[in-house]
Amino acid sequence: MQFFKTARPYIIAGPCSAETREQVLDVAAALAGMNVQLMRAGVWKPRTRPGSFEGNGKAALEWLQEAKQQFNIPVTIEVADPAHIELALQYGIDVLWIGARTVVNPFQVQRLADALRGVNIPVMVKNPVNPDVNLWQGAIERFAQVGITNVAAVHRGFSGYTAAAGYRNQPNWPVPIELKRRMPELSIFCDPSHITGNREKIAEVAQKALDMHFDGLMIETHPQPDAAWSDAAQQVTPVQLNHILHGLIVRDEHTHDMSGLEQLEYLRQLMDSMDAEIVDLLARRMELSAQIGAVKKDCNMTVYQPVRWREIVDTRGSRAGQQGLTPEFVVELYEKIHHESIRIQLALMAAAPETPTTATGPAIDQ
Ligand code: PEP
Ligand code: MN
Repeated sequence: MQFFKTARPYIIAGPCSAETREQVLDVAAALAGMNVQLMRAGVWKPRTRPGSFEGNGKAALEWLQEAKQQFNIPVTIEVADPAHIELALQYGIDVLWIGARTVVNPFQVQRLADALRGVNIPVMVKNPVNPDVNLWQGAIERFAQVGITNVAAVHRGFSGYTAAAGYRNQPNWPVPIELKRRMPELSIFCDPSHITGNREKIAEVAQKALDMHFDGLMIETHPQPDAAWSDAAQQVTPVQLNHILHGLIVRDEHTHDMSGLEQLEYLRQLMDSMDAEIVDLLARRMELSAQIGAVKKDCNMTVYQPVRWREIVDTRGSRAGQQGLTPEFVVELYEKIHHESIRIQLALMAAAPETPTTATGPAIDQ
């Protein structure tokens, strides 16, 4: 059995930072009695600006070692440097995690992977701060390449100038979904604490993640969250964590319910033929675009026509609204369609002029 597949959902909990020996032992005692597979705590903290608490380093490793021995709970810390790895291994840390700010740097990720050659310790790779699925996948591959057999991904959301839906980080769900499509065997955990930045919203995001087939959760848990030295607003007490975990509905990808399966099969067949119609319709629309492009070329007109594009956005958006669809969704879809249309027409403009073989002019049908 793979390390991260021993429970579903796999739960990682513990403070943002290991602050004092008492705090670490307190939280370990509480988590050990709960359905928590792994205890987390930051020992070196990557802070955005200097002057805030940057972790207790080596001293914190001693507290974690003590907590692990006393309460029989495996522990994980963030490592960002080969020197961190050396100390973590020395102090018997069970699992390492790579933070979002480190994952953006392939040089550093490779240095960390090289430091783990021949050491088969489980590693969790957080998403990079920017929504780049290739960068995330690349970091995971660097650890797999040096022989780490247990790698998991942690979705902690993405930085933006403004956070969507009142969250600290934009969840940008299509990014982890795409990672899972590319790496179906990979365990993906969600970190609702860093996504929301707000303890009130953790349960809601945690449930959403489970409904989207995430394999586990990382939830920051502190004996006295309001007094935390980092990320105070998003940490919960062990009692609150227990409450969140008990409230979760765990769903399965599959079912044995025959009538449910039959209904799904029927509805999916309808959907399959509808999708075939959509693709055929798109092909016909692009054909029309090519014809329009030929006219524009003939009349020496620009490919992009801002007034026409605005009209398309307005009319398709309001039609979407009338049909009970989100106008933004339909407009986004049209942005993609329009982009493809422009690509086709630009290629047409760039093509060498045809030597006329007949006197009928360009091949347009209107
Ligand atoms: C953390 O887990 O406390 C942390 C610093 O996370 P991230 O790398 O996701 O910002
Ligand atoms: Mn944190």
